[in-house]
Amino acid sequence: MIRLQDSYWQPIHAEIQNFLWLQLYDPIFNILAIKKPFQNARLDHLQAAMTEGRVFYDNGVFSSPSGKYDIRTSKELSEFATFNPRSGTWVGLPPPEIIATAARVKFESQRINERVAEVLPKFEANFEAALKGLTFPIAHVISVMNEGLQQSLGTLAILPELTPEAYANLIGFYHDQQKLNIQNWEPEQISRLRNVIEANVKAGYNRQELENRIRQEWEVSANKARFLARQETSLFVSRFRDERYQSAGVEEYIWMSSGDSRCRAANKYGGPAHGPGGPLHGHRFRFDDPPISGTRGERENPGVPFGCRCIARPVLNITKV
Ligand SMILES: [Zn+2]
Repeated sequence: MIRLQDSYWQPIHAEIQNFLWLQLYDPIFNILAIKKPFQNARLDHLQAAMTEGRVFYDNGVFSSPSGKYDIRTSKELSEFATFNPRSGTWVGLPPPEIIATAARVKFESQRINERVAEVLPKFEANFEAALKGLTFPIAHVISVMNEGLQQSLGTLAILPELTPEAYANLIGFYHDQQKLNIQNWEPEQISRLRNVIEANVKAGYNRQELENRIRQEWEVSANKARFLARQETSLFVSRFRDERYQSAGVEEYIWMSSGDSRCRAANKYGGPAHGPGGPLHGHRFRFDDPPISGTRGERENPGVPFGCRCIARPVLNITKV
């Protein structure tokens, strides 16, 4: 059986009332500086909760982003609205001061939404130039790696000198790769943010929700940045190691599992186990002929597969020296 529920029409009523109040009476009361007839302290907590974004009002429905209402706010809501436990919302006909508060909050949130939306085209316009000016502290990493590699060889093999030119090439290579990563990912992040802003328009400018979503997007960005920094540097380190060892005449290595839980966890992405007992740890391979080790069966040296923290212990051919 279908019958009319109060909740069907009350929101419409509220909207009409809202419209009339805002368009006609509120300006008049303001111009005349007349004390508003309904200005009282009864609904203080509700108005504070709305202003702070703890309670959101749209179309006759009060909701809470956290799903919670404090006792005093609930008490005030119960004066004119009924709680729907299923949706966790309050539905009812709010008095004019509540409508006015909702309109003010919505207006401010709309301004915030618009200002956030304006940031995106600016970011896109400046992106290329800003990315071009970006530098990464990789030079120090190269010199530390170089020393480490020489130490691992002891006196049994000598790494050829790393010329300033070779240094510059390595630094340039790293920058090119990392900037390409960022460039490839930028449209995705911009489109995610655009979706957040558009979704917020449809949701009636929920400022709290906008803040929450933007914070979530920041986390996405921060995680992506962390991933790119880690993955690209890991690839760079492995590539540098392979080339340097081979330039010193070291062609083979023993695959050594890092033994920490994170590398063993790499197995969950697929590919062969990197840990003890697997086909890699403790086995001997050639730098120019890596074993099957990647997540999709790629042939890769230690440190190259996704999440891999294994190392290559150089095999020194003493008879050659
Ligand atoms: Zn590994």
